[in-house]
Amino acid sequence: MKVVLATSNPGKLAEFKALSTQAPDLDLILAPPGFNPEETGATFIENALIKARAAAALCHLPAIADDSGLTVEAMDGRPGIHSARYCEGSDGDRRKKLLLELKNVPAGKRQAAFVCAIALVDSEGKVLFTCEEKWQGSISTEEHGTHGFGFDSLFIPLNDSQTSAQLEPSVKNQRSHRGQAWSRFLNHLATQISRKA
Ligand code: IMP
Repeated sequence: MKVVLATSNPGKLAEFKALSTQAPDLDLILAPPGFNPEETGATFIENALIKARAAAALCHLPAIADDSGLTVEAMDGRPGIHSARYCEGSDGDRRKKLLLELKNVPAGKRQAAFVCAIALVDSEGKVLFTCEEKWQGSISTEEHGTHGFGFDSLFIPLNDSQTSAQLEPSVKNQRSHRGQAWSRFLNHLATQISRKA
């Protein structure tokens, strides 16, 4: 089954392919260079659907998209869907800003979650599957670890003492919001295939 992954980022394609080894029938391909639809949705699912529908319309194929971000309880769920645009500059600048906003928030009140939504649409944009998964944790008071990206060096998963940037990427992928959401998608795919057989 050929499915467009609604991104033009080859790194993201490689990551999702690595998560899909149990689904040999799934042939993921990249959206064309420059693919970057405006994410005007109010939720992670709405934004994933916007991206998936834009890719399906461009490529005339079924398309899948993910949308993710960090929600922080003490910040009423911000930065949420705006995580990638939380402030101008680099991931490092965004981490600095987050630490500053949480400067006076004590340990025990720094709960947060990474969220990932996934949407699959057919070549006409009809919704075939959506899901949303959360990875609960908290925001540390300083950065630790060198793996990952974004807010990883500040995010301590629930019942853990290390940040997600200190986890081996394969371990993070299994436990993370993205890994969990992708696994639900693969289960959906397997159910559909076995129904048709
Ligand atoms: P996007 O869905 O790839 O646009 O990601 C949105 C933003 O959320 C990223 O730029 C990161 O700031 C943050 N984010 C989402 N997932 C992760 C993660 O697994 N680790 C660290 N930051 C993440």
